[in-house]
Amino acid sequence: MEQKLDRLKALLTEVVDLRTAQAVLGWDQETLMPPGGALGRGYQLGTLAKIAHAKFTSDEVGQLLEDLGPLGKQFPPDSDEACLIKITLREYLKLKRVPSEYVEENTRVTSNAYSVWEKAKASSDFSMFRPELEKVVALRRQYASFFQPYVHVYDPLLDDFEPGLKTAEVKDIFNVLRPQQVALLHAIAGKPVPESKFLTASYPESTQIEFGKEVITRFGFDWQRGREDLTVHPFTTGFNTGDVRITTRVDSQRLEMAIFGTMHEAGHGMYEQGIDPTLNRTPLASGASMAIHESQSRLWENLVGRSRPFWVYFYPRLQQLFPSQLENISLDTFYRGINRVEPSLIRVNADEATYNLHIMLRLELEIALMEGSLAVKDLPSAWNSRVKEYLGLTPPDDANGVLQDVHWSQGYFGYFSTYALGNLVSAQIWEALSADIPDLEKDISQGEFRPILTWLREKIHRHGAKFEPQDLIRKVTGTGITPEPYMRYLTAKYSEIYHL
Ligand code: ZN
Repeated sequence: MEQKLDRLKALLTEVVDLRTAQAVLGWDQETLMPPGGALGRGYQLGTLAKIAHAKFTSDEVGQLLEDLGPLGKQFPPDSDEACLIKITLREYLKLKRVPSEYVEENTRVTSNAYSVWEKAKASSDFSMFRPELEKVVALRRQYASFFQPYVHVYDPLLDDFEPGLKTAEVKDIFNVLRPQQVALLHAIAGKPVPESKFLTASYPESTQIEFGKEVITRFGFDWQRGREDLTVHPFTTGFNTGDVRITTRVDSQRLEMAIFGTMHEAGHGMYEQGIDPTLNRTPLASGASMAIHESQSRLWENLVGRSRPFWVYFYPRLQQLFPSQLENISLDTFYRGINRVEPSLIRVNADEATYNLHIMLRLELEIALMEGSLAVKDLPSAWNSRVKEYLGLTPPDDANGVLQDVHWSQGYFGYFSTYALGNLVSAQIWEALSADIPDLEKDISQGEFRPILTWLREKIHRHGAKFEPQDLIRKVTGTGITPEPYMRYLTAKYSEIYHL
């Protein structure tokens, strides 16, 4: 058995190395590559993807997994070996169901759809994007068909981002969450909006970047094993635990964007840096799922970064860096300003009280598209009517409506719900963490974040993708994904800010 396991590990290192090379090329594409490199980069990525896919789905890997399946039960269930066999088999069986011609066609269609989407968004013209989106939707429905029988057509799509979670479970969670979010929003709507004009004064970009770096250094982001670069759509990518890349963007007129974006990506980055290095070069050297990953970014961005204790420590430093912009703004005014609630059209700019509503409307539309009950041509009007219903707003055009997000052009149906689930999980984790760290608020107000990072490392980060996400959440918080801690957090926070 040892020999077979060693052989499997050796084959997997090649797959992981190829995927890592893809990730390096992808990082370069979104940070440094000149526009002229796009075509060549597409070929390079396609070739690597094809080789990695062929290696992973080879008969030898299949045979080894079959042989090791029953034998693997001899290892303790939480051991690296048992988890490697289990998680690899799961991915292998999924990849095996997808024909390589499909992989190729899907890559080609979504690559084109992405560039058409960029142009359609720039000219705010959905009709330009519509034929491409129709192809993508058809391909996604075809993808789901490879996994029949399923309970719901959306299940296989969701499973790619949140392994093991079912559509019915997400619907149940959102059905509990939605009325509570709407009720909170109604309570807030009757109150005056806190002052926030000072956030759009002119803030030199390089100083904003400097401040962001100071904050995440204090959090524990390791610069010996990571770096930060500028990009248009911020993301984080880890090549292994010794090399994790975060990205950010900055706008001199929008102080919040770089500060909170940097904390968000650092949350993702510290997760990747915290994975046990013994898992490097295996499929387990990544986050457990998109929702778990997002719980880490949201925890640092919101639970820590938008809290009053955090600004008790950091606001004097921010005032020092931007004296003319902030000298007359008190800590309390600043804190209320960055936590103001204002229904808005754009998801990425949404505050904590409205963010999940943006996700819920996308989920409903995605499910309808996959079920076939909504046609792509009717998507803009369906979008606009839901925005009106959920947020009380009317998008002035498609760029501020149905075209705002990149995900659908890339075929990422099933992704959006993990953003909202990540919010819920972040609050669940925070409650567990608070119970274990009695002086949490005091620590934060003194700029002491080590207890938080140490706790997250021990409970979540070091395990990488060893455990299925639902099992991991249960281990850490005692329950599955549930909206109650998040609503407790929001209600307490906004009750204080808005005197509800
Ligand atoms: Zn994120």
